[in-house]
Amino acid sequence: MEKSVEQLTLVKDKIGAAEREANRPEGSTTLVAVSKTFDASHIRPVIEAGQRVFGENRVQEAQGKWPGLKAEFPDIELHLIGPLQSNKAKEAVALFDVIETVDREKIAAELAREIERQGRAPRLYVQVNTGSEPQKAGIEPREAVAFVKRCREVHGLAIEGLMCIPPAEENPGPHFALLEKLAREAGLERLSMGMSGDYELAVAFGATSVRVGSAIFGTR
Ligand SMILES: *Cc1c(COP(=O)(O)O)cnc(C)c1O
Repeated sequence: MEKSVEQLTLVKDKIGAAEREANRPEGSTTLVAVSKTFDASHIRPVIEAGQRVFGENRVQEAQGKWPGLKAEFPDIELHLIGPLQSNKAKEAVALFDVIETVDREKIAAELAREIERQGRAPRLYVQVNTGSEPQKAGIEPREAVAFVKRCREVHGLAIEGLMCIPPAEENPGPHFALLEKLAREAGLERLSMGMSGDYELAVAFGATSVRVGSAIFGTR
């Protein structure tokens, strides 16, 4: 058996255990398998093992491998988890089923325009820069609730949840807690948080989806 398929099983078991530990319903956390840098030949066995939700961080890279796989497996759900440039909004709306990285007015406006034009509406998350890191994408925490409101009221976008990537060197717990609090204030129920190193902790903090790459596919 492919190593990635064994790892997939292990990660799913750990998510299940974390859900039980947190008294959350089994299956309440969606596993987004992050396949960035891996090509279709590495991804295929994981699809064949039953995984259907995947994440990619670059529009162009995803365009190179996913149209074929999506044609073959129509129930794939593809998430964009990397920064979105406004000149790529058209391609992103055409290819992705979920865009997790809405973080500024210009992107919200471009997405609204493309959704209208293409008649295709990916589900949307707002990315929050919970650590206020200057090099990192995401809206500032203090602006997040108002931004969600503007996405709805000004741009007519249905925002489904919030997403964050905590600073690499910090305990992620407080960042997960902050994201949960902001989501509650914004009236949102979905939280995309937790990666290979901390997805079990994220489940304990209420993650409804975790984005796991290297723990499944190996080091990049
Ligand atoms: C790469 C990436 C992940 C997965 O990271 P791993 O540590 O490999 O699990 C999750 N979220 C985002 C936004 C990423 O870019």
